[in-house]
Amino acid sequence: MTPGERRTALEQIANDVRACNGCRLHEGRTRAVPGEGDPDTEVVFVGEGPGFNEDREGRPFVGRAGGLLVRLLGAIGWQREDVFITNVVKCRPPDNRDPQPDEIAACAPHLRRQLEVLDPSVVVTLGRYSMAAFMPGARIGQVHGTARPADPETGARDALVFAMYHPAAALRTAAIERESFEDVARVPSVLVQARERRAGTVNGVNGVNEAPEPAMILTAIPAAPAAPATTPAPDAATPAADAADQMTLF
Ligand code: URA
Repeated sequence: MTPGERRTALEQIANDVRACNGCRLHEGRTRAVPGEGDPDTEVVFVGEGPGFNEDREGRPFVGRAGGLLVRLLGAIGWQREDVFITNVVKCRPPDNRDPQPDEIAACAPHLRRQLEVLDPSVVVTLGRYSMAAFMPGARIGQVHGTARPADPETGARDALVFAMYHPAAALRTAAIERESFEDVARVPSVLVQARERRAGTVNGVNGVNEAPEPAMILTAIPAAPAAPATTPAPDAATPAADAADQMTLF
């Protein structure tokens, strides 16, 4: 798929999301929130669902949780425009309640189509509901900061999934915020690993897997030094920035 075809396909999916009445959430929405970002990115972030601000603007992660997501990305030298950001459900659940299983199931084809078009190397899940879509049965307290191969049924046909806490949870709890900065510092290494895997250098010849990898937990990857929450994006003299430079998305 050429970049132009990818852009057109994503816009078609976004139009389908805006017209969707596949579950009860469409009744209360102001605007659907299909997702946004670089159509040619290698990394997709998947949150839970739109909140108040997202519902008004039709854009993902534009409220306080979005502010923290931007800081987390900044800690590894990335900007939100470098990645694609979307959610498990594309319409706001009333009063920001958790999305229900039938709503997640009804919305799943939209996310699957986005992932098929984007063909990311890495999917970063934000929070329990997103994690559950890619790591069924996992517990966020155990798998955050780890990666495993994505089930191609998700639409991500050759990706590593990396689990993180939801930024809203990090806003509530200082320890989770600290862990989130430690976790995001691992994302560039996971991207390198995902690229190698896609190039077939890890699993055999020509990208063909020789053995299933049910749980390639990457806990051994040393985390780059986490930037404290108040630190601006690192400059080129810091180890974190060096790592980010090597693992630039472009
Ligand atoms: N929380 C989410 O999970 N997604 C958004 O888009 C905003 C807040």
